[in-house]
Amino acid sequence: MSFLKLGIIGYPLTHSLSPLLHAELMRGLGLAGEYAKYELPPEQLVTRLRELEQQGLRGLNVTIPHKVAVMQEMDWLSPQAELAGAVNTIVFETQADNGGIKRRGHNTDIAGFMRSLPPQVREALPHSHLLILGAGGSARAVMTGLIEARTQAITFAVRNPAKALSITSDGQLIKTTLNSPTRLNLVALETVDDLSGFAGLINTTPVGMYPQIETCPLRPALLDSLPESGWVYDLIYRPLETQLLQQASQRNRLSLNGLDMLIYQGICAFELWSGRPVPDPLVNAVRHSLQQQLEASPSP
Ligand code: NAP
Repeated sequence: MSFLKLGIIGYPLTHSLSPLLHAELMRGLGLAGEYAKYELPPEQLVTRLRELEQQGLRGLNVTIPHKVAVMQEMDWLSPQAELAGAVNTIVFETQADNGGIKRRGHNTDIAGFMRSLPPQVREALPHSHLLILGAGGSARAVMTGLIEARTQAITFAVRNPAKALSITSDGQLIKTTLNSPTRLNLVALETVDDLSGFAGLINTTPVGMYPQIETCPLRPALLDSLPESGWVYDLIYRPLETQLLQQASQRNRLSLNGLDMLIYQGICAFELWSGRPVPDPLVNAVRHSLQQQLEASPSP
């Protein structure tokens, strides 16, 4: 394969770990290439995208604030990007017949989240009622994957239910499209007072993220009511162990941080760009590097 030109667009892009992740993947697979950061404000999205495409890029990751706006710049959307209403990966496809370039939009956050789940958690989803804290962009990706996996029920707990109503209405459309039985429900975060009916809890809010590392998105004592087999997943990876995860571990509940979701969304994107599957030993090596990097410099 020729030199692989890759990158990420977003604004701002200060704390992205993606350059390190993709450098490790290229090295591990013996591929020559580069992964550059392109910090571009929203008003430059259309023109810069055209420039980057003409510079021979194979693909781009897309992050905040462009994940929704970039959709209308695509020639094709994957079914998952359509369902989630967001694109986080672009593949520039050169056409064999006329040399033109087609932009294909994917959403690898969904597969990234699903691949990050331990097998015992994934297999139990059709019998699991899950609690998701937050209803923003990452909650939508998580919801899409969970509906596709025919999770029994999802309750969203949010600080402002009126503002978050669209997550359950969009979820209903996804359910219908996928013919999935998942029940969806929305409650105010402050009314959550018992976790005994939940198999797992997923934090998709930024509460607990660096530098507010002492904060927790819900009262720690509530974790006492989570079943002993219950698990807690925090999408945050800075710090690797948030206050929420510390509290869950102290109560012997399985606790999972956001590093694997970050790694797998990147791997899914890389597999689309390179056409090469990433073997498990390389996944482990990448995890080791990113973990070391996060431990060495906990601040972005
Ligand atoms: P987002 O679209 O801004 O959504 C954030 C959600 O959290 C919203 O529902 C927001 O509610 C809620 N929220 C914010 N502050 C809150 C508070 N103090 N109390 C209660 N709820 C609060 O952000 P996002 O893109 O989903 O990202 C959320 C987190 O996930 C970030 O920490 C991000 O780093 C992490 N993340 C990790 C990965 C990964 O690969 N591991 C991927 C994506 C995101 P309002 O609407 O009321 O503001």
